[in-house]
Amino acid sequence: MSLPALLDPDLIRSCLLRWYDAHARTLAWRVGPGQGAVRADPYRVWLSEVMLQQTTVPHATPYFLKFTQAWPRVEDLAAAADGDVMAAWAGLGYYARARNLLACARAVASEHGGAFPDTEDALLQLPGVGAYTAAAVAAIAFDRAANVVDGNVERVISRLYAVQDLLPDAKPQLKTLAAGLVREDRPGDWAQALMDLGATVCKPKQPLCLICPLAEVCTAKAEGEPQTYPRKRQKAARPKRYGVAFVIRRGDTLALIRRPAKGLLGGMLALPSTDWRSKPWTDAEIAPPIAADWVTAGQIEHIFTHFALSLAVWVAQGDFSDAIWTRATDLGALPSVFLKAAQAGLGLNYGRPVARLEPLAQAPEHGPRFGLATGELVVPDTIDDLNAEIEVLFTGKK
Ligand code: SF4
Repeated sequence: MSLPALLDPDLIRSCLLRWYDAHARTLAWRVGPGQGAVRADPYRVWLSEVMLQQTTVPHATPYFLKFTQAWPRVEDLAAAADGDVMAAWAGLGYYARARNLLACARAVASEHGGAFPDTEDALLQLPGVGAYTAAAVAAIAFDRAANVVDGNVERVISRLYAVQDLLPDAKPQLKTLAAGLVREDRPGDWAQALMDLGATVCKPKQPLCLICPLAEVCTAKAEGEPQTYPRKRQKAARPKRYGVAFVIRRGDTLALIRRPAKGLLGGMLALPSTDWRSKPWTDAEIAPPIAADWVTAGQIEHIFTHFALSLAVWVAQGDFSDAIWTRATDLGALPSVFLKAAQAGLGLNYGRPVARLEPLAQAPEHGPRFGLATGELVVPDTIDDLNAEIEVLFTGKK
């Protein structure tokens, strides 16, 4: 593959590494470029990379801090109870990743004496560790010349070289081009410099070319429309699924269940619900887990990777023998989809009675400060805020 002279890899590397030395982000798991020979802790690098695969740095950071406080070493995480780790992971999504996280920690603790292997190939043998994570840990924690390519890096490379092929077919080409920039010299810093550039400068919709250290050599910028890269094949529409979640209340507690270990949200706490199917449910088809005076409390929407879910929420007071009774102020271990449904359920006195049944006799004395009163669900930003709101709802005390 012949490239324009300006795309000299050494020139690109020196521009970007100089920029990284001055502008590297300060991240909870990172050893910055000014810290000399200090090496990043492989456990912290691995944990952060697993958390960051489908979410952003601001969202992942509190989880990272919580995990490393509770389980400072990989052996501590390996010894943790599954339920505690799943609960701590709640809100990060992609729960199969949490199960793989535990499996990997246990393999490192039992088969490697608590020390992560230091090569890409050996890292790849660990449970749940894929090509990206192995490369990232090898480069960042062990300074191996690994080619670390995630979505951010693909975007930067596609623009730098104005790659015309469409994603996802262009992935191998982008990986090859990225590999051409990797050297034995500072591979960990190089990987992180590319990540930082993609996250803070070469942004998806509005690349900040005016402040970019690669502006002089970037082909897409020279063409004038860098935001049109990477070229992508049009995505098929996400299929829709429908379900009903049941909020069973007893005093200030809600009935939760634990989902089966295998499958979507496996092993997580949840509200009881119907199957999630491609056809909307009619009231007559729905079989709630207990006989009670059910009312509807609206509907929440949630996007999973492979489908979009519309989840109707039904609410009742009653007893449910299979329940894990959980205070409404202590719902932090619920995955987001069920947390949203529980929130909707707490606005229950705005519901539509199901069939002939009456609304609940014991609506909260103090009206909900969030819910469906205006037809719109107002979701607090943090679980602490949510719990504060729920406390007010039940006690009236601010
Ligand atoms: S010049 Fe613009 S498009 Fe090119 S790498 Fe920099 S920010 Fe991205």
